[in-house]
Amino acid sequence: MAYDMTPEDFRAEARGWLEANFPSVLSGKAGAMMARMDGGVLDAEMLAWKSAMGAKGWGTPTWPAQYGGGGLTAPQARVLAQEMAKVGAFNPLVHGMGVTMIGPTIMDYGTEAQKQQHLPPIIRGEVRWCVGYSEPNAGSDLASLQTKCVDVGDHWVVNGQKVWTSGAQWGDWCGTLVRTDPAAKKHEGISFLLVDMRQPSVETRPIKLIAGASPFCETFFTDTRVAKDGLLGEINKGWTVGKRLLQHERASQTGASGGGRVTPMDEIARRYLDVDGDGHLADDDARSRLTSHLMDTKAHGLTLSRAMAEAKGNAGPSNTASVLKNSATHVAQTRAELTLEVMGAQGLGWEGDAFAPEEKEAVRAWLFGKAMSIYGGSSEIQNNIISKRILGLPDTTQSA
Ligand SMILES: Cc1cc2nc3c(=O)[nH]c(=O)nc-3n(C[C@H](O)[C@H](O)[C@H](O)COP(=O)(O)OP(=O)(O)OC[C@H]3O[C@@H](n4cnc5c(N)ncnc54)[C@H](O)[C@@H]3O)c2cc1C
Repeated sequence: MAYDMTPEDFRAEARGWLEANFPSVLSGKAGAMMARMDGGVLDAEMLAWKSAMGAKGWGTPTWPAQYGGGGLTAPQARVLAQEMAKVGAFNPLVHGMGVTMIGPTIMDYGTEAQKQQHLPPIIRGEVRWCVGYSEPNAGSDLASLQTKCVDVGDHWVVNGQKVWTSGAQWGDWCGTLVRTDPAAKKHEGISFLLVDMRQPSVETRPIKLIAGASPFCETFFTDTRVAKDGLLGEINKGWTVGKRLLQHERASQTGASGGGRVTPMDEIARRYLDVDGDGHLADDDARSRLTSHLMDTKAHGLTLSRAMAEAKGNAGPSNTASVLKNSATHVAQTRAELTLEVMGAQGLGWEGDAFAPEEKEAVRAWLFGKAMSIYGGSSEIQNNIISKRILGLPDTTQSA
């Protein structure tokens, strides 16, 4: 059992398994996997890699083996990540909401039957989950949501509209917040439902983004049927379950990069800008802003490591995720801005042979980066959470 091995013994096992299972043509191609998350078709190598990781459970390395997860200890999982990085391998499952948000929340609040039903297909990467929280009049003030859910005896019936539902058009299941008691105070009449999206009463309308893609939708539930065992947690206690999912979401957004090897910013700058005889950037202003960004990146990385070290033995999600999400957002958005500036006119290409693939990617990353300070709760909402829940400052007009 991997669980009984020391991290160093485990290293040999991980290396051997990667040699046998990671297709070397995929080395360093994490970006290709991410691009294909948006409903695209995976090629044969990517499919093989995804199913190998799913079967081994190493896409969810620390999840319990009884549901098909890797069953690794945290130190073993770190060794696995190091060995994967050495060969340019990446986790083909980590970008799905099933792995980052829904699965962990089911582990926290699900019944044994819900865990048995939902965790194994998430671990194997066989189902896509989306999260239906936001509504046209309920974003930051999420507790104002109005999607109605009625108990009709042997099942629930849901009516209402969600918006910005990422991946809803490809979703098999949706974890959603609904109002089950309209008479209760707004935070108290909410429940969390697991909705099967593969029924005609669920309609999705993709919304096009400035960066070209349509990664999210308006989602309409019209007399949508949900089995009685689709309730996650207790009736009318969905706000607690919903907040936990958001902590898992924020925890998954603290890395400041999309995984795989990220070209260091100073390497990009040296490629595009003039350097002096000592190999330093000649432009004082560019050098100083780049240095400041590299220091922020380092500080974020160290804070992340410290938070992980402190959480040992109590690795549950916490409000610290709000601090880390904001700092990751700052680092990623600054990097995207600096990259475009450094590339100059080459950083403005959208298509055509005059621009290298990484130049076209830089514009898309810059545009998509704008979303980071909005999704998962905006930066201002994270600041509210930090001030109330961590610093203990007095309440504002709304509960975050
Ligand atoms: C790329 C992307 C993917 C998303 N995916 C999903 C998804 O899968 N599922 C889902 O349910 N939702 C999703 N969302 C929606 C996201 O959660 C909301 O956009 C977000 O919570 C903000 O809500 P809003 O857009 O209604 O803006 P609003 O709540 O209207 O906020 C507008 C502005 O006012 C500020 N503001 C509002 N209230 C306060 C306050 N109390 N204090 C200080 N400032 C405040 C906000 O910070 C923001 O700048 C996604 C959004 C994006 C951009």
